[in-house]
Amino acid sequence: MNRSRIHIAAWCFLLAAVPAVFAGCGKSESPSPTGREGKMVCVDTATKEAIVMPVADTFPAPNPRTGKRTMMPAMYCLKCARWHPVPPPDQINRTPKATTCPKTGTPLTLDGPWPEEESTASARAGR
Ligand SMILES: [Zn+2]
Repeated sequence: MNRSRIHIAAWCFLLAAVPAVFAGCGKSESPSPTGREGKMVCVDTATKEAIVMPVADTFPAPNPRTGKRTMMPAMYCLKCARWHPVPPPDQINRTPKATTCPKTGTPLTLDGPWPEEESTASARAGR
């Protein structure tokens, strides 16, 4: 009698513990407070428009709207107050002055104000 009760207790423990483990996994992968995890700013080389899109591993990356491979990674220029396209990560170190503004020579930063994301892009029309 005692033995089967322990057995049941063990099962209960397992059933309770397994979802907790999964929940723990999900939590560790959840986005940082900025909500920018897994996303990056890219500039469409055709329209010069900066948009937020999921991190791409090859460039030019396809534009989420047009599907055309026109998206280059972008860094922010404080002087121009806009995002400039920069070379892909595997080429950026081989390109002199890749991370400075071509117009003003200002060092570019990744910490600029992000453009509206796709889901809120319609709000931009009022500007
Ligand atoms: Zn600039």
